[in-house]
Amino acid sequence: MPVLLSLFLFAGCALAQNPLVLKAARLFDGKAGALVSPGLVVVVAGKITGVGTTAQIPRDAQVIDLGDATLLPGFLDAHTHLTLPYSDDWKGATFDGLRKPVSEQTLDAAENARKTLMAGFTTVRDVGSHDYIDVGLRNAIRDGKIEGPRMLVAVHAIGSTGGHCDDDSGFRAGIFASVPCQILPSKEFYDYEDKYC
Ligand SMILES: [Zn+2]
Repeated sequence: MPVLLSLFLFAGCALAQNPLVLKAARLFDGKAGALVSPGLVVVVAGKITGVGTTAQIPRDAQVIDLGDATLLPGFLDAHTHLTLPYSDDWKGATFDGLRKPVSEQTLDAAENARKTLMAGFTTVRDVGSHDYIDVGLRNAIRDGKIEGPRMLVAVHAIGSTGGHCDDDSGFRAGIFASVPCQILPSKEFYDYEDKYC
């Protein structure tokens, strides 16, 4: 099976070096909707200046030959929530989100951003967050502090009480943050006390 490599993987190492040329057996041309061969991508000062079989290779370029691989443009995801917990255990994830400190949720979001980038997504449209985690995440990625896709952020989402975008999942706002751990009402909550208090 041919190897697919997204071009973003190489953008960072091109910033402070000579022009970089990526060479591979194939390149997916998104405009033409076709594979071309060989695949050539020229990167100068972190920007792509030439793509395709006819791209001009600068004399002082560093050429990286990736062999039997296919280069493709970075993907865009138009609907993400990188800062929200997701799990097959919906109930558990909901309580995680309510009890977990914002600082820990932010670190979780950074990991989500890194995984999203490594999956080939170089831009996301993040359509709802809380506590401005999405803004911090966007800024940290933009400033090169952490790895992640370029983010366009909505900050606040609009939704029904208890619905998809309700930060408090239908409970009174702040009730979990304000209730002392010792008086949480059920075993299920005590389990979360063990985890977060
Ligand atoms: Zn959504």
